[in-house]
Amino acid sequence: MDLTEKLAILGESARYDVSCSSSGSRREGKPGHVGNTVPAGLCHTWTADGRCVSLLKVLQTNQCVYDCVYCINRCSNQIRRTRFEPDELADLTMAFYRRNYIEGLFLSSAVWRCPDDTMELMIATLKRLREQYRFNGYIHAKAIPGCSDHLLEQMGRLADRVSINIEQCTTESLRLLAPQKAAQAIFQPIRYLSRRLITQKDELAHFRHTPRFSPAGQTTQIIVGASAEKDLQILRTAQKLYDSCQLKRVYYSAYLPINDDQRLPSLATAPPLLREHRLYQADWLLRFYQFTCDELIDESQPDLDLALDPKSAWAVRHLDQFPIELNQADYEQLLRVPGIGIRSARRIVAARRHHRLTLDDLKGMRISMKRAGWFITCNGRYGGPFLPNPENLRSLLCDQSGRQRQRSNQISLEEIYADSLCANV
Ligand code: SF4
Repeated sequence: MDLTEKLAILGESARYDVSCSSSGSRREGKPGHVGNTVPAGLCHTWTADGRCVSLLKVLQTNQCVYDCVYCINRCSNQIRRTRFEPDELADLTMAFYRRNYIEGLFLSSAVWRCPDDTMELMIATLKRLREQYRFNGYIHAKAIPGCSDHLLEQMGRLADRVSINIEQCTTESLRLLAPQKAAQAIFQPIRYLSRRLITQKDELAHFRHTPRFSPAGQTTQIIVGASAEKDLQILRTAQKLYDSCQLKRVYYSAYLPINDDQRLPSLATAPPLLREHRLYQADWLLRFYQFTCDELIDESQPDLDLALDPKSAWAVRHLDQFPIELNQADYEQLLRVPGIGIRSARRIVAARRHHRLTLDDLKGMRISMKRAGWFITCNGRYGGPFLPNPENLRSLLCDQSGRQRQRSNQISLEEIYADSLCANV
């Protein structure tokens, strides 16, 4: 098999791994045009300093000894299999880099023979890139659950970001859908990386030239909708990972019906894209808006409201805390108002140092008054057209998000597959 064929197979096999950022583009190549954002093989991510970079996204191999029910590469599927030798993949990456096709590498892999053998193969690729070619570009490597600590250490020193996929949130789902993976084998490397990232921070404070270890941190991916987990379990897992393992990011990946297996939702089931979208919104609130998981959902209502974004849903349930006066509310209270984001909250705090704000002042602050108006007063004036009760406020807010909801439901399966190769950080 020549390199082009290997690249086509291993680029295609990597498209279901979503731990990278989206370019948001779905433009296919057309005759007479240049460029094509759809084919597998490229994805985008943001580096630690905020640059968006394009990455070659491939698997080291799709030869897998595991049989995870939801995965295209599972050993029981009849698909074309191949493997990059470390030299081949490093040479290919450099060739693309020199032609300015890519700025880095996203390297994942199926489990070839055993976790340690696969890690050795991946590390050999990274070593050739870093040591022989002196490649200084961005590398995101996926570690294999169950690998040894010393291999994780080597990978962390070579890659900018190392991540391990959790995929299922409970041991029951793991046992059912990924029987060869144990929770211990997944969480042990996550904890190792977390400890190393903490010691690295400490070392850097004392020694400027200490060797870097995964400077862009670690991330993980959870598959949504392949098993019975509720949003509450998923978000609690994410919150624990943010709080105790210092993860940079948790990715939620709507289950795509690829395999026909009775343990999975039926092939006719549409991927839960809107649910994935709501989870990303809730995740954003956990990371940047000082919400906790139990504020957003609880045991009595363990799934996020699909009709309303999580911040609006929370605000409608807590109308006793509104309306708030924008000239007096503290920064944390401002962040809880639907339609007011971090930048707008900062602008409000900065502007009111100079004068009392009026409703007219809010126009230039990129505040969505259609959403925020119901929850605020400004200089004593109520922002909404009338004072609503909880039920009609909910339906008014639902109507506003209806257009977006329709769009999410209309995305075709082809678009989802195209998206999944470059979906969200
Ligand atoms: S280990 Fe499981 S999820 Fe990973 S490639 Fe193999 S079958 Fe797929």
